[in-house]
Amino acid sequence: MTISPDSRVAVVTGASSGIGEATARTLAAQGFHVVVGARRVDRIEKLADEIGGTALELDVTDEDSVTAFTTVLPRVDVLVNNAGGAKGMAPVAEADLDDWRWMWETNVLGTLRMTKALLPKLVDSGDGLIVTITSVAAFHAYDNGAGYTSAKHAQAVLHRTLRGELLGKPVRLTEIAPGAVETEFSLVRFEGDAERAAKVYEGITPLVAEDIAEIVGFVASRPPHVNLDQIIVQPRDQAGPMRFHRTAE
Ligand code: NAP
Repeated sequence: MTISPDSRVAVVTGASSGIGEATARTLAAQGFHVVVGARRVDRIEKLADEIGGTALELDVTDEDSVTAFTTVLPRVDVLVNNAGGAKGMAPVAEADLDDWRWMWETNVLGTLRMTKALLPKLVDSGDGLIVTITSVAAFHAYDNGAGYTSAKHAQAVLHRTLRGELLGKPVRLTEIAPGAVETEFSLVRFEGDAERAAKVYEGITPLVAEDIAEIVGFVASRPPHVNLDQIIVQPRDQAGPMRFHRTAE
């Protein structure tokens, strides 16, 4: 990996689509050398070519993959914990344990693995930043969503705990909690059922990935003494995880 000695390095997990991909583009435009990670390597290689960054295969649920990814990085100034998502919408009484394991492994333990591995490099940078993409689901419970809401609550608490534990160290922490963003999120949640996924955004104007990327870019361009702790961002048509104003088509 060739990174110019004066380049600041940003790592974006889950950069093969949606919020992660858009964030990688924004940070590259701000001058960061962006290292993009995901399991779909063809996609991140194409992206890295476009933005002059580096693509490295990454599965945040796999300890060896995280070790291989993180050890080759010469320095890290920004970590965006974005890899994540939801699987299914089942009431607790019918919970699918495999779906829950996927959500906890990806959102919670994935964030823990990446953060733990890169913390020494973030501290060494002298002005590190950890951005974690949680969700409005990290603030509320909703029916049929406990697998995702519990995972996002846990991911958020892990992130918020670090804010105190790292006091005195040169690392800032920002939690960004979006509402509905039209990405591949719902397609993944509903196992590729495009019709069901489209219904989530029907009759509303959802956020797009670039809306969140711009916020990450704003956070990453604040001076070192400014810590934006939490940012909740929803479409105007939304006022909570399951509360939407929908216009009839
Ligand atoms: P997306 O388009 O489905 O993107 C999810 C990304 O996560 C993909 O790049 C995927 O890459 C990656 N990923 C999944 N499992 C992974 C693993 N084991 N290892 C590495 N990467 C993995 O959805 P998105 O909306 O951009 O989601 C990004 C984040 O925003 C997630 O944490 C999600 O929970 C959060 N969020 C989304 C919304 C929304 O409405 N869209 C709202 C609030 C919060 P590969 O499959 O190639 O590995």
